[in-house]
Amino acid sequence: MDFSYTPSQESFRAELRTWLETNSGEIFGRGGEGLGGSTASLLDVRDDGRWKQMLDYHRRLYRSGYVALHWPKEWGGGGADLVEQSIYQDEVLRLGLPLYGANQLAIDRIGPTIMLMGTNEQKQRHLQPMLTGEQIWCQGYSEPNAGSDLAGIQTRAVVEGDSFVVNGQKVWTSLAQRSDWQVLLVRTDPEAPKHKGISYLLVDMHTPGITVRPLVQMTGEAGFNEVFYDNVRVPKENLVGELNQGWQVSIATLMFERVSGGTRHPVERTINELVELARQVDFQGVPAQQDPYVRQKLAAFVSDARCLRLSRYRSLTSQLKGKVPGPESSFGKLFATELNLRVAMFADELLGPYGLLESDSLGAVESGKWTHRTLAARGLTIAAGSSEIQHNIIGERVLKLPKG
Ligand SMILES: Cc1cc2nc3c(=O)[nH]c(=O)nc-3n(C[C@H](O)[C@H](O)[C@H](O)COP(=O)(O)OP(=O)(O)OC[C@H]3O[C@@H](n4cnc5c(N)ncnc54)[C@H](O)[C@@H]3O)c2cc1C
Repeated sequence: MDFSYTPSQESFRAELRTWLETNSGEIFGRGGEGLGGSTASLLDVRDDGRWKQMLDYHRRLYRSGYVALHWPKEWGGGGADLVEQSIYQDEVLRLGLPLYGANQLAIDRIGPTIMLMGTNEQKQRHLQPMLTGEQIWCQGYSEPNAGSDLAGIQTRAVVEGDSFVVNGQKVWTSLAQRSDWQVLLVRTDPEAPKHKGISYLLVDMHTPGITVRPLVQMTGEAGFNEVFYDNVRVPKENLVGELNQGWQVSIATLMFERVSGGTRHPVERTINELVELARQVDFQGVPAQQDPYVRQKLAAFVSDARCLRLSRYRSLTSQLKGKVPGPESSFGKLFATELNLRVAMFADELLGPYGLLESDSLGAVESGKWTHRTLAARGLTIAAGSSEIQHNIIGERVLKLPKG
C-alpha cells in the first residue's frame, strides 16, 4: 500500500476541507453531533426547520460540484477517481456529515442503479433532479414479514391497461415523509418461485392511494415510516429492468449500498470524542484517563478503527491495481457498525447514571449525547442487512463455510 498523496490530491483535500467547514455548520444535530455517513434515518424529518437546513446544505453541495463526485460527468456527477472519492469520504466523515446531503439513497444507490439498468427516459427524468434535490428518494423494500428474507415480499402489483395497480404495505422506509419518489419492490407473479416473481418500480410518492405514517424510534426521532398502498396506479414505463426480474435490479442497488461499506460511519470521529470525554470525567473515583481499564478500552477502540481504515486502503489499493477487492471489502459494514455500538455503550459505562440525563442544568454530560448515540447505534447494526445476516454472508460467500 502506498499511503502518500500527490500534490494535486492534497490540494483537492485542502479545498474540500475548507468548503465543508465553511458550509456545514448549521446541519449539526443534537449536542453538536453530526448526522454522519449514511444515517439519514437519524434525522427527525418531522422537524421542518432541520429539514430545510438539510435541503439548503444539499443545494450548496450541488452548486459546489461535490454532491455526487462518484457519478460520471455525463450525468452531472464529478467524475472523480477512486482516490478523490476516498478523500471525500474521509473529510465528510471527519466532520460527521451525511455523505450525500439530503438525498443519500438517490445519490448513493438509486441513481447508479438507474444509470445501469434504467431506460433512457428514466435517466433523463430522474438523474439531474436527484442531484439538485428536486426529487428526494426513498427505498421501499422491507415489509412487516420480509426484512432479512427480502424475497418474501407480499406487496402486490397487477397490470391493468397501461399501469400497475399496487396494494400492500412497506415498513421502516427512511425519509418517506419527505420523499417525492420511491423505488418499490412488488410481487408481480405470485405463482413463480419467490425470487422470480418480483418487479422493481419507480413510484411518485404524491400518487393518490399512498399513506405515509412516521414511526418514532427509541431515540424519540422519526426517521422512518410505514407506507400503505391502496390501489396505487403506477405507469408501466416506470418499471426498471424486465417484468418479474426485479430481484436482479434490487441486488444491483444493494451492491451499490455495500460498495463502500464500513467507510460510511464516522466511528473514528466518535472515538476521538470518547478519548476527549475520558480526559474530562472521573471513573470510579479517579480521573478516567488514568484508569487502566478505561485506557485499555480506548486503546482497543483506536486500534480497531485503525484496522478498519487500513482494510479500506487495502481494498482501494486492489481496485487501483485493477484487481477485485478481497474479503476485506465484505466486513466493513459489520465491523464499523458493531464498533460504533461498542464505543457508544462504553461511553454510557463511563458516565454511569449521568449519561442518562438530558438537561445540562441537572448535570447531564453534553446534553445526553452519548445515550442518544447508544440508542441510535442499535439501528445501524440492523439497517442495510443486520449483523447476523452479514455474518452469514461472510461465512457462506467469503469464507465458503457450509450453510448453517
Ligand atoms: C435505521 C433503519 C433504517 C432502515 N431503512 C430502511 C429503508 O429505507 N427501506 C427499507 O426497505 N428498509 C429499511 N430498514 C429495514 C431493514 O432493512 C430491516 O430492518 C432489516 O433488513 C432486518 O429486517 P427485519 O427488521 O424484518 O428483521 P428480521 O428479518 O425479522 O430479523 C429479526 C432478527 O432475526 C435475525 N435473523 C433473520 N434472519 C436470520 C438468518 N437467516 N440467520 C440469522 N439471523 C437471522 C436478524 O438478524 C434479526 O436480529 C431500515 C432499518 C433500520 C433499523
